[in-house]
Amino acid sequence: MNSDVIKNVVIAGGGTAGWMAAAAFSKLLGKNLNVTLIESDLIPTIGVGEATIPTLHIFNDLLKIREADFMASTNASFKLGISFENWRNINQDYIHSFGFLGQGCWAADFQHFWLRGFQNGSASEIGDYVHEHVACRKEKFAVFPGEDRNHAFHIDAGLYARFLRNLAEQYGTRRVEGKIASVNLDENNGYIKSLTLENGQTCEGDLFIDCTGFRGLLIEQALHTGFEDWSHWLSCDRAIAVQTEQVTPAVPYTRSIAHQNGWQWRIPLQNRMGNGNVYCSKYLSDDAAKEQLLSSVSGKLINEPRVIKFRTGTRRKHWNKNCVALGLASGFVEPLESTSIHLIQQSIIRLMLLLPSKKIEQANVDRFNEKMQFELNNIRDFIVLHYHVTERKDSEFWRYCKSMPIPESLQARIDLFKQNSQAYKTDEELFGTASWIQVMLGQGIMPERYHPIVDMMGEAELKAFLDKIKNSIARRVDSLPNHLEFIKNYCPSKSIKVSEV
Ligand SMILES: Cc1cc2nc3c(=O)[nH]c(=O)nc-3n(C[C@H](O)[C@H](O)[C@H](O)COP(=O)(O)OP(=O)(O)OC[C@H]3O[C@@H](n4cnc5c(N)ncnc54)[C@H](O)[C@@H]3O)c2cc1C
Repeated sequence: MNSDVIKNVVIAGGGTAGWMAAAAFSKLLGKNLNVTLIESDLIPTIGVGEATIPTLHIFNDLLKIREADFMASTNASFKLGISFENWRNINQDYIHSFGFLGQGCWAADFQHFWLRGFQNGSASEIGDYVHEHVACRKEKFAVFPGEDRNHAFHIDAGLYARFLRNLAEQYGTRRVEGKIASVNLDENNGYIKSLTLENGQTCEGDLFIDCTGFRGLLIEQALHTGFEDWSHWLSCDRAIAVQTEQVTPAVPYTRSIAHQNGWQWRIPLQNRMGNGNVYCSKYLSDDAAKEQLLSSVSGKLINEPRVIKFRTGTRRKHWNKNCVALGLASGFVEPLESTSIHLIQQSIIRLMLLLPSKKIEQANVDRFNEKMQFELNNIRDFIVLHYHVTERKDSEFWRYCKSMPIPESLQARIDLFKQNSQAYKTDEELFGTASWIQVMLGQGIMPERYHPIVDMMGEAELKAFLDKIKNSIARRVDSLPNHLEFIKNYCPSKSIKVSEV
């Protein structure tokens, strides 16, 4: 470290992670910090990462980003959840929506009341009691000022990085174009002193943020932080991505369609569809995966299909010495629940909250790593749940997922729900009880018992209670405009005419 005060922040890499960090640091702490971002036009960004989750509102609010501007600049559509198709079994679908489930009481959440109703025939599927779930099915959407915002976005990743770059540069981020050739360490303490570019230019810094993608140029190649491999739980290790022209109106949800060796995504933007095939290379070749993807997309191809290799897992530390890894440099769970951009923003906000006023202290570093690890483990468990709890047995891949040993923390959660309908969320965990319940039920876990307090209600009272919630959601959703109609008025793309869609 060069000084006792953190003054110079150097961000290596200009993908989504790099520009999110640059925008946040320069806008929120820029008066006292010099923020420099180095990126190379010769090294492309990953070019995927287009589905988000509702926590992005926190980041946008911090940076005072107006939702309609951000959406119009990134050709965005709204996302209320993910439709999981063929995951539980072939031809069985469910939606994991971002809303809250019905209404509970002090002793028991809504699923306990729903379970009794479902067992005696007075309740329908759980999604009927979640506003966002019904809105997905009916393709309806509207934003109401002052109300909870349980929606996320589908965005164009390239345009998002450009949008953030404008913001960051406006607030003083200095962009340096060039390829980083070496990472120079202080021989006394092993901290990073500077980065030297291929053209000989050197950038010195006090705090380095590694956003160089999977290569982890600083955190791994220079600091040898180590990697915890999770591929025995999450064995998909490749994706093929391709964009197609939009032939059907954008729906307010992502589609995740399972196949014999993985799954495919469909991410609708205002002007195009993002498509991808995620698979396990042990069971499916790249050529076969490409053929499978191309035979299932509709609309003309906009670009060439591209194979992306990845390894699921996490760096052993996300903050090591004076280097913090963000985005793919810090590891990758897998894209099933669109959690990577969320993790980038969490790391940025945590880093800012734990930023020491003078030199870097180990206590701050340890706290940061502990919190990141906790949240990541929870996300990992949630994603493993989708693969493990399945009735599919039609391929080696699914038979492996079904029989593999899973983390104890996940097994405990499954047991709790299966036996007594209990689900929970602790502070610092990302996924709430409604998410766990929708996915556990959707994947086929039906709880055996509900909480005894539910039997305080008579049959007719319970039915009236359940019907009231369901009917009020149905009425409210019916009164909303169509998703695409709403976009046309609220945030039409700046680069295309929505009427062309
Ligand atoms: C198949 C797949 C699907 C995904 N889907 C989603 C999703 O739906 N939702 C979601 O939230 N996330 C998703 N992600 C993750 C998401 O794409 C990333 O978290 C996000 O794009 C951030 O990437 P990044 O900025 O870390 O890396 P990159 O985009 O790879 O950027 C790396 C940057 O580093 C620069 N760089 C590298 N080496 C050097 C060097 N030597 N010198 C100078 N510059 C250098 C490059 O020029 C580039 O600017 C997905 C990822 C994959 C692999």
